[in-house]
Amino acid sequence: MPFRTRFAPSPTGPLHLGHAYSAILAHDMARERNGEFLLRIEDIDQSRARAEWEELIYEDLVWLGLTWDGDVLRQSTRMPIYHRALQILWDEDLIFACNCSRRDINEALSAPHEGTPPSGPDGVIYPWTCRRHGKANGTASLPENTALRLDMEKVVRRLRKQPALEYIETGSVLAAAGKAQQIQLQELPSTVGDIVVARKDMGTSYHLSVVLDDADQAVTHVVRGQDLEEATAIHVVLQSLLGLPTPIYHHHRLIRDKTGKRLAKRDDARAIRTYRQDGASPEDIRHMVGL
Ligand code: GLU
Repeated sequence: MPFRTRFAPSPTGPLHLGHAYSAILAHDMARERNGEFLLRIEDIDQSRARAEWEELIYEDLVWLGLTWDGDVLRQSTRMPIYHRALQILWDEDLIFACNCSRRDINEALSAPHEGTPPSGPDGVIYPWTCRRHGKANGTASLPENTALRLDMEKVVRRLRKQPALEYIETGSVLAAAGKAQQIQLQELPSTVGDIVVARKDMGTSYHLSVVLDDADQAVTHVVRGQDLEEATAIHVVLQSLLGLPTPIYHHHRLIRDKTGKRLAKRDDARAIRTYRQDGASPEDIRHMVGL
């Protein structure tokens, strides 16, 4: 199988050491295996994406000595593809329109007998506030200007007809073979819940877009941080529903600051650009992230 991986930053701030680690790791894995390294700009959140951050991503990657294969894929150009996938999920009655505001959800969750609301990879587990607006009670065409959620109970019923869902996780970048991870379908409604597959303001979501893009770009290996490990169950479920292949996953360690906190975009002090301006070399960056 040819090896193809990608780096998929969102242009919502400067790349920091954590991004550099992820990009270098994926890039080197591809080059060592005579494979391909693709670049995808995850700019579906148009309220936060900025052209200048995108420019800086290219500059930083070139400075780091990373080269990517083929054209850069920008998610904002792919809205019709995301829409088509949502229509399929709607036609199969697996998603429902949700007009709940954050406030509605918080109110439903703060009922006195409830205790601490359970949360999953996508935040609090949706408390079913408006599950009734599904296709069965609605129109044939995909509703617009509304959030769309996956009905996880229907999804589980659908997927039970298939063998248990599994994906391969490689614990180390050098591992030739990985470990099979099982996804316990019956637990998904309580551990993941009815996640948003299309945000009202975006018409899609990170989860849906990433799954469709990885498939369309024929990505064989996804190399990304451990912070996204929990989201992988959602991605494997969506791949299964949409008939897409599941890549092999490697979730790498996270780069933390001295206090052990994970680096964030707003952490400008550790932006690659800042190191660059302060005279660091790409080799210094590799050392700093332990490569
Ligand atoms: N765009 C995501 C981020 O910047 C990464 C998505 C992924 O690798 O799946 O955190």
